Amino acid sequence: MAYDVIVAGTGPAGLMTAEHTSKYGLKTLVLEKRKQVTDSLMGELVTDKALNFLRVKPDSEFIGNKFTSIIGESLDTGANIVVDRTLLGNSYLFDEDKCQEIMRDRALSNGAEFRYKSRVKSVVKEGNSVVGVKYNQDEEARANLTVGADGSFSRVSETSGFTHPKWLLSYGYRFKLTNCKNIDPNTAYFYVGKNVGLGYLWLYPRSESEINLGIGRVPSTKTNWDKLPPMRDVLRNYMKTHPETQDAKIESVNAGVVPCSGIIPKFTDAGVALCGNSAGQVSSIVGGGVTTCFHAGQLLAKHAKRIVDAGDFSEKSVRLYEKEYRKSKIASNITNTGKGMIAISKYAMFNDHMEAAEIVLGQLDADTLNKLIQGNAGVATYMGLVSNFLPMVMKIGLGYTKAIAMSGL
Ligand SMILES: Cc1cc2nc3c(=O)[nH]c(=O)nc-3n(C[C@H](O)[C@H](O)[C@H](O)COP(=O)(O)OP(=O)(O)OC[C@H]3O[C@@H](n4cnc5c(N)ncnc54)[C@H](O)[C@@H]3O)c2cc1C
Repeated sequence: MAYDVIVAGTGPAGLMTAEHTSKYGLKTLVLEKRKQVTDSLMGELVTDKALNFLRVKPDSEFIGNKFTSIIGESLDTGANIVVDRTLLGNSYLFDEDKCQEIMRDRALSNGAEFRYKSRVKSVVKEGNSVVGVKYNQDEEARANLTVGADGSFSRVSETSGFTHPKWLLSYGYRFKLTNCKNIDPNTAYFYVGKNVGLGYLWLYPRSESEINLGIGRVPSTKTNWDKLPPMRDVLRNYMKTHPETQDAKIESVNAGVVPCSGIIPKFTDAGVALCGNSAGQVSSIVGGGVTTCFHAGQLLAKHAKRIVDAGDFSEKSVRLYEKEYRKSKIASNITNTGKGMIAISKYAMFNDHMEAAEIVLGQLDADTLNKLIQGNAGVATYMGLVSNFLPMVMKIGLGYTKAIAMSGL
C-alpha cells in the first residue's frame, strides 16, 4: 500500500490522529477539502484536559483567555446562576488557529503529507475491506487504514456503510466581534431563552473589547424550528439590545453542525475507523467536541500503530480501537448525556422546554452546574439531579413517552 494511514479531515480529530500516527512513524496522508487547516472552526472553550492532550501550557500563546467565573442566565427573565472562582475549575479559550497550526506542524515535521482542496467522495473497497479513498474528480489514494475524521456528514462513514439511526444534530453559528465595550474578560456567559430554542447562546470574551458570540440549537421538530427566529437574527438582536455590543464589528462568521445524541452504534470495520463528530464522539448536552476528539484521535493513532505493526487490518483487529474507546470514562459520559439529549429533544417536541430550563436556572446549585460544564459530573451528581428535579424528570419522561407514542420515533 502507498500509505499506512489516510486521514480524511483536518478538524481536531483528524489533526490529532495525524500528529500521532506520524509520530509513531506511520506513513500518513491527510486529505482536506478546504484550502488550509485554519479554514474550519475547531471549537474553543475547553478545560485542562484539552490542554493536556495538546501538550500546551495555560500561559502559552495557544490560550486566548482564561475564565474565573461562568454565568448561566435566562434572556427572558434574567434568572441566573453564578459559578464563581471558588467553584470554577479551569476554563480556557483556545486560540483556534494556533492550535490547529501546531498539530499540523507537528504532523508535518513527523513526515505526514497534507493535500488540501482534496474532497473525499467515497471509500475504495476490495472485498469487505476498505483500502483507501476516491477524492476530487477521479483521484485515488490507498492505505491500510482509512480514518474518517471528516465531520458530521462524513463521506467515509456513509460510503463504508456505517449508520446512525438516532442522529440528532445541533446547529451552531458564531460571530467573532471586536470593538465591544466594558467587557469583563474573566466571565463567560451561557444564555437560554425562548428565541434561543433548544440549546444555548454563549458569550466568551477574548479581551475587554473582543468577544465570541455564538448560538447552538437542536431542532426538536421542523415545526418548532420554523417558529424560531434564524440563529443569526438572535445573535444580532443580542448585539442590539446590549450596550456592550451595540457598536461592535463582526470580524468573522462561522457555522457548523455537531451530533449530540451519543456515539454511533458501530464505527470500525475492516480497514476503516471513524473519529470525532463522524462517530458522534461529542459531549452531547453542551456540544463540546474538542477534548473528546483529541482523546479519540490519540487512542485511534495508538491502535493504528498496533494494526500496522501486526499487519492485521481485519474488522476484529480494527474493532479493538472501538472496544477500548467505549470503555473510557469520556465515552460513557457521551453515551449517558446522549441519551439525556434524546429524551430532552423528544420532550421538547410537545412541551415547553423553556419552562423546564427556567426551573433548572432557579434551582440548580452552582457546584452542580460547574461539574456538568467541566464534564466531571459523577454518578452521585446525576443521582442528585434526578432526585432534586424529580417532577421535571418525570415530566421529561412523560413528554418522551408521548412523543414516541405520537410520532412513532
Ligand atoms: C459554532 C460552534 C462552536 C463550537 N464551540 C465549541 C467549544 O467551544 N468547545 C468544544 O469543545 N467544542 C465546540 N464545538 C464542537 C467542535 O467544534 C466539534 O465537535 C469538533 O470540531 C469536531 O471535530 P472533527 O474533527 O470531528 O470534525 P470537524 O471539526 O467538523 O472537521 C472535519 C474536517 O473535515 C473536512 N471535511 C469534511 N468533509 C470532507 C471531505 N469529504 N473530504 C475532505 N475533507 C472533508 C472539513 O473541512 C473539516 O476540516 C463547536 C461547534 C460549533 C459548530
